[in-house]
Amino acid sequence: MSGPVAPADAAPGEPAPVAAAIERHDARITEVGGLTVRRLLPKRTRRTVGAWCFVDHVGPTTATMGIGPHAHIGLHTVTWLLEGELRHTDSLGTEQAIRPRQLNLMTAGRGVAHAEESTGASTSIHAVQLWVAQPSATRGGAPAFEHHAELPVVELGAATATVLVGSVDGTTSPARTDSPLVGLAVDLRGAASVPLDVGFEHAVAVLEGAVAVGDDIVAPGQLAYLGPGRDALNLRAGDARLLVLGGAPFDEEILMWWNFVARDRSEVADAWRDWQQGDDRFGSVDSSLERIDAPPLR
Ligand code: MN
Repeated sequence: MSGPVAPADAAPGEPAPVAAAIERHDARITEVGGLTVRRLLPKRTRRTVGAWCFVDHVGPTTATMGIGPHAHIGLHTVTWLLEGELRHTDSLGTEQAIRPRQLNLMTAGRGVAHAEESTGASTSIHAVQLWVAQPSATRGGAPAFEHHAELPVVELGAATATVLVGSVDGTTSPARTDSPLVGLAVDLRGAASVPLDVGFEHAVAVLEGAVAVGDDIVAPGQLAYLGPGRDALNLRAGDARLLVLGGAPFDEEILMWWNFVARDRSEVADAWRDWQQGDDRFGSVDSSLERIDAPPLR
């Protein structure tokens, strides 16, 4: 049942109904490191969800990934695999295999470089990479790396939710967050109600299967956005895997260019010059892959 709410539907003095509609965005199909990806964020009309500012969904595919050393500033990269195995190497000296259901979280701060490639241990890959914009309070800080092989899991009706970052239903991830944020990887086989922080905005990214988000069906390649003011997210699916991403609306205007999350052009230009000149700011990465140049600044 649906339709506009008439004055007769709600007596004066009753609380206004929360908008039921979701905002749906289709992915842009692009290519990264030899792989076709569905880019779900940023969109021109939806740049951030909380501090989440980038969502790439890859696979499942039998192609192999090889992304040579490249630089980041002002963000966390969050890598999560459903299938396959990747090797992460970075300018902090980290070398870390990433396997399904493990969280890889790199903090760029003022500058970091890393490379990501398939290890050959698996013939297929199915993964997401997400970026989280760092707030001004921390974005000039030191780079860092965390690997979480084990994360807390919460049962919510027919959903099994792994808590990547933040908290749900009183269970909190050990992963670092620099702003109020939540990230859940959900396996769904039936109906579930996911409790939400009413101050957060949220998005659902479906990775496998089709999911009813309220009354809307969302499939892989689509992002469903839900504004603040909701205390629960009602989901239903036969058999699906999805991400629930949320956070306090990010109140800083960001400028994303290449792999940099900055605030203005001059900051991008400084990072561009430092990377192109091989400045110590970004260190060096022990990788057999070719270093990636930043595209020309216009
Ligand atoms: Mn990267």
